Amino acid sequence: MSEILITGGRLIDGTGAAPRASDVLLRDDEIVAVGAPGTVSAGADATRIDATGHTVMPGLIDAHLHCTFDDVQSNDELFFHREAAMSALTTVPNLQKILRAGVTSFMDPDTAWGIGPSIRDAIDCGVIDGPRMKTGYQALLTAVGGTAGRLIPDEGRAGYAQVVNSVDEVILWTRRHIKYGADWIKIHATGSIPTRKGELLVWSYDELKASCDAAHELGVPVTAHCRSDESTRVAIQAGVDLILHASYITEDTVQLMIDSGVAVCPTFTFLANLADYGRAVGAGIGQEDLFRGEIRATAKMMRAAYDAGVPILCGSESGFSLTPYGHWHGREMEVFVNELGLTPLEAITCGTKNGAIAVRMEGEVGTIEVGRRADVLVVDGDPSVDITILNDKSRFAHIISKGKRVDTSGPWPTHTKIPGSKVANWAEQSLTYDLAMSLKR
Ligand SMILES: [Zn+2]
Repeated sequence: MSEILITGGRLIDGTGAAPRASDVLLRDDEIVAVGAPGTVSAGADATRIDATGHTVMPGLIDAHLHCTFDDVQSNDELFFHREAAMSALTTVPNLQKILRAGVTSFMDPDTAWGIGPSIRDAIDCGVIDGPRMKTGYQALLTAVGGTAGRLIPDEGRAGYAQVVNSVDEVILWTRRHIKYGADWIKIHATGSIPTRKGELLVWSYDELKASCDAAHELGVPVTAHCRSDESTRVAIQAGVDLILHASYITEDTVQLMIDSGVAVCPTFTFLANLADYGRAVGAGIGQEDLFRGEIRATAKMMRAAYDAGVPILCGSESGFSLTPYGHWHGREMEVFVNELGLTPLEAITCGTKNGAIAVRMEGEVGTIEVGRRADVLVVDGDPSVDITILNDKSRFAHIISKGKRVDTSGPWPTHTKIPGSKVANWAEQSLTYDLAMSLKR
């Protein structure tokens, strides 16, 4: 048995309750006591943490990230230059980055070559170390594809995608993913078509419903990537349990959300990073306003959904070069404060308690209450005043995952270029004769 007693801190318990002075006792992987300062006692062997001047709060729950993507720079790289074994190996150090950013649980909806369940089982069985993980297998796509356009094959599988071409195939692959160990079925409801604006719904209602029915019959929930109002509406009607993005939703769709009990993970972080910093890293040049516009257009209705009690979750979309692991897991809460007008405390509840829905551990993780699992952060400062400190790893005095302190003393994991994994451009621009001559002059 191992005990950790945390005393003298300001407790944000994740339920939305006001911060209060409180001591917390952890015994193995369980919170066994929460009480007024000085009222909680521990055994002589207990590890004691003095949290005076610090905030004690639940570990963050990232409801949408991609742990097997290794911060890819392009879809080309993601679909054609990553082997399954290398994807699994790079995931191991990347899990440490996620943990060292205060994320003690996460949900990964779709994984390269379907390796997610193996990663989860390796964590659960102690083969590797990592946060609590719930996972999809691959994303189900129709032949129209997803956000990778024509890189998606007409049939079969590639990278994180499994193409389904009929209601029968939808049912077949939903069941197979469950057999292979998926905690969630992931549907890519919208896709981009060259020459068409925005993302379009590329599934029929019958196809969506077939997946939801087949999954629900086996007790597995369904999540869907929906970057339009229409797709969000039809997905909810078909029975989807967790909507990712829900971009440009209208009042009618918000009403549908309220009536259906669906949860929503808007995942603004990727867009916010593009809008604010895309130019600095040579991405999305000239499109900053478009991304900012998508956030603004969606935020107002998302706030209405929040006010009506729709559970809103925090997702970082980590796994891409614009959202590298370990750097942006607190950013969504900041966007919720700035764009939805939530208080920092409300945003923290979205990033902790509500996240338990995504990891299918409601009532087990996400709050500091007796009987919950022992995932606790001790933060230097008060995130209920300044939410941005949750993005600053240097402010995590202690990260406790499954009742054990995370060792953050070693160097940040890095690796050099893996042979064959990067796609290099021959040149950024065409070497025309005129350009060559102009250089000679
Ligand atoms: Zn995603």
